[in-house]
Amino acid sequence: MISAMNDGGGHDLGATFLDLAVGGSEDLQIRDEVHRLARDVIRPAARVLDRMSPQQRVEPSSPLHAALGRLKELGYHRLFLAPDQGGPEGGVTAATQAVVLEELGWGSLGLATSFLVDLMPFVSIAMFGTEELRRELLVPWAEDTTGSLRGCWAITEPDHGSDFLGLRHDGSTPPKGQLIATREEGGWRLAGQKSAWVSSAPVATHAAVHAQAGADGDILHSFFAVVPLDAPGIARGTPAAMLGARDDPQGEIFFDGAFVPDSHVLVAPGPAYPVFGDQLLCMTSAIIAQVAVGVARAAFEEALAHARARVQGGSVIAAHKNVQLTLYGMFEKIEAARAYSRLALAHVQQTSMLGAGAAGTGASPRHTRAAQIFAKRVAFEVANDAVQVCGAFGLSEESLTEKLLRDARCLLIEDGTLEVLALDAARDVIANYESPTYKMEEVMARW
Ligand SMILES: Cc1cc2nc3c(=O)[nH]c(=O)nc-3n(C[C@H](O)[C@H](O)[C@H](O)COP(=O)(O)OP(=O)(O)OC[C@H]3O[C@@H](n4cnc5c(N)ncnc54)[C@H](O)[C@@H]3O)c2cc1C
Repeated sequence: MISAMNDGGGHDLGATFLDLAVGGSEDLQIRDEVHRLARDVIRPAARVLDRMSPQQRVEPSSPLHAALGRLKELGYHRLFLAPDQGGPEGGVTAATQAVVLEELGWGSLGLATSFLVDLMPFVSIAMFGTEELRRELLVPWAEDTTGSLRGCWAITEPDHGSDFLGLRHDGSTPPKGQLIATREEGGWRLAGQKSAWVSSAPVATHAAVHAQAGADGDILHSFFAVVPLDAPGIARGTPAAMLGARDDPQGEIFFDGAFVPDSHVLVAPGPAYPVFGDQLLCMTSAIIAQVAVGVARAAFEEALAHARARVQGGSVIAAHKNVQLTLYGMFEKIEAARAYSRLALAHVQQTSMLGAGAAGTGASPRHTRAAQIFAKRVAFEVANDAVQVCGAFGLSEESLTEKLLRDARCLLIEDGTLEVLALDAARDVIANYESPTYKMEEVMARW
């Protein structure tokens, strides 16, 4: 029986594969640790969550909370903080971060996304917040071992998905936003809403919010702030029912007079805001690329294990040349995606204002978008091939491959659609190919 091989939790080929880009023995050790967590906690929880209703997923009894709590208990969120902000002594290399993110992606796209959006408000406080705000929010978050503080990233709006995630240079007039901040003594009053696709919004305690400053402005004249989601004047929509990434509940956030004090505004409205937005997308691009590689590897391992075991017509299907070439093609794509994604993450950590702080001269949009696009495309193609190698079983709910294909399909849209990211990168290639540095002034000029 094929189903005896795989109860939907997938195969575990271990974390002993030869990784040409792994940094050293410490990275191998951490890879093993996170792999065990991905296998024993993330995948089983994701499997259950995938089959629950959107509302059940966010209820107190949902396995979502225990899985996120376990991630906090193990302290992986601190790997993204500098040593003086609560991160490990001596700092963490981009290679280590990449290994962790790939394993989380191998475990499940949804819970890996929860992990990432959780970082957004709090790591931003570490970079741009005042000492007081760090004491108030960053320290408790860094020390949290239960998942009681959780972040999300509220950027897109009902009428502004692609607008916010790309198209830096398209020359069109920036549109008006749907979350408007009105200036008051000591801060901003918010009115409007964010889209139904804000990952983790139904369960987060804090959001990193992009809001347009003043009704007369546009989305480029926005600011970036941390907002506690239990503040008066904030409500959440019902969790969305989605094709994939179901283990990360998504939903709207409504603002009806919520007040954001200036102390919670991390990037003020001004010419630095579009540069921040552009660099933030460099960081999210490099990070989601690692997760996409993990999703692709999970799919490849399902196909490999199945091809080795499945006997059809008297021989294992791995003996067929078409299956061999398909498996090789999957392997080649993953190796290339991993190598390029890790280069991109190392580049962003060294050059972006979000990685290197004030010393950051600016990460390259064209390279980071390319890493994101390539890794996401690889994840989808490999997941699709995995279903083909697994035959009808690969389409059945008994397999992991059908979930991986649904998740990989989401990757082609989340954090920017492939087309919009590619147009953004294309414009950077055309305008700046010969330039060895980031053209900050070009982006500031749009403000
Ligand atoms: C799994 C998942 C998680 C997400 N998580 C978050 C989150 O945490 N926070 C958040 O704020 N949002 C989140 N999103 C929203 C996501 O960022 C948007 O869905 C994405 O940016 C695309 O926007 P849209 O869905 O509005 O599509 P649209 O912008 O309406 O695009 C629809 C189609 O039109 C094309 N298109 C649109 N405009 C252009 C253009 N100018 N030029 C060429 N083609 C164009 C697109 O390529 C696409 O094919 C998430 C989405 C998903 C699916």
